[in-house]
Amino acid sequence: MTPDPRDVGPVPVGDWDRAVGLISSADEIALACHISPDGDALGSMLALGMALRAAGRRVTASFGERRFRVPRLLRFLPGQELLSEPDAYPAAPELMITFDAPTVERLGVLAGNAARARELVVLDHHPSNTGFGTLNLVDPGAAATVALAEELIHRLGLPVDKAIATCLYAGLVTDTGSFRHSSTTPEAHLMAARLVATGLNPEEIARELWDRSPFGYLRVLGAVLDRVVLEPEVGGGLVWTSVTRADRAAYGLPYDELEGIIDVIRRTEEADMAVVLKEDDDGAWQVSTRSKGAVDVARVCAALGGGGHTKAAGFTSHLPVEQTMASLRALL
Ligand code: AMP
Ligand code: MN
Ligand code: MN
Repeated sequence: MTPDPRDVGPVPVGDWDRAVGLISSADEIALACHISPDGDALGSMLALGMALRAAGRRVTASFGERRFRVPRLLRFLPGQELLSEPDAYPAAPELMITFDAPTVERLGVLAGNAARARELVVLDHHPSNTGFGTLNLVDPGAAATVALAEELIHRLGLPVDKAIATCLYAGLVTDTGSFRHSSTTPEAHLMAARLVATGLNPEEIARELWDRSPFGYLRVLGAVLDRVVLEPEVGGGLVWTSVTRADRAAYGLPYDELEGIIDVIRRTEEADMAVVLKEDDDGAWQVSTRSKGAVDVARVCAALGGGGHTKAAGFTSHLPVEQTMASLRALL
């Protein structure tokens, strides 16, 4: 038998076949991505959702946040009409598919629905994925979950139009940091070539994702940079800052405008690790961490109840900033 040329990842071809079989025979397909969705989570889910809908399938798509809100940066993605609030989600789905979630906890309030699902297909690329599905399509070598979503769409024999490609491309450029991070493989570029060939607009997608923010963003960034701290003796060098609710309230800046701040902080040459603590609307601190390679931030964040990748990870803290930083330093 000639091997399938695409059967190169760690996902056995039999598992792909099983996923195709489950999807083909289901009456309704329930999709869920991780909470606080990024371009990869939402992009992979909407891409598969649109492909299935175009094939006449019944699809539900959501993520498990009570305060259900698509981040402003991602509202340009096609397929938003597929989304519904988690309250409307099937309580015990016949078939549920998750996107970019390494643990069942990252499904938020939909974790229970996942536990009750008859079949749970997990699509992910986190090395830390716990394999919480009845079928786990996990490839830690994939640049993003959208790579697995594209493969699944291909194996279902469904076409990728410009709208679907836009969602896949958004996930790819988000997770590779515009082809700058270590996840930038030849396969990632080949995938980009296939997607751009559908006629999508890379310039427009880049502008939506990174190159637009309200004026207040600059003022908040100013305040945040004003209090940035460099601790060269901690780990391989630590640079960190925080963004309070008060900072944002002063300029009416929504929480979801803060995503780019870590990319300003992490450029610091004297530091291996960068940290931004962001106070959300509930007063919890969402902590973003990045490393240039000396520190495994996935390990550090996992020890603090979060997770992520070796060089980009995060966790949630309910402690004051100084206490959070102290527990973080203790792990370096
Ligand atoms: P961010 O700093 O929000 O861009 O997150 C970077 C990575 O860290 C994400 O891709 C997630 O895998 C992971 N991550 C962020 N926040 C959390 C959290 N609260 N719990 C678990 N993983 C997280
Ligand atoms: Mn993600
Ligand atoms: Mn991802």
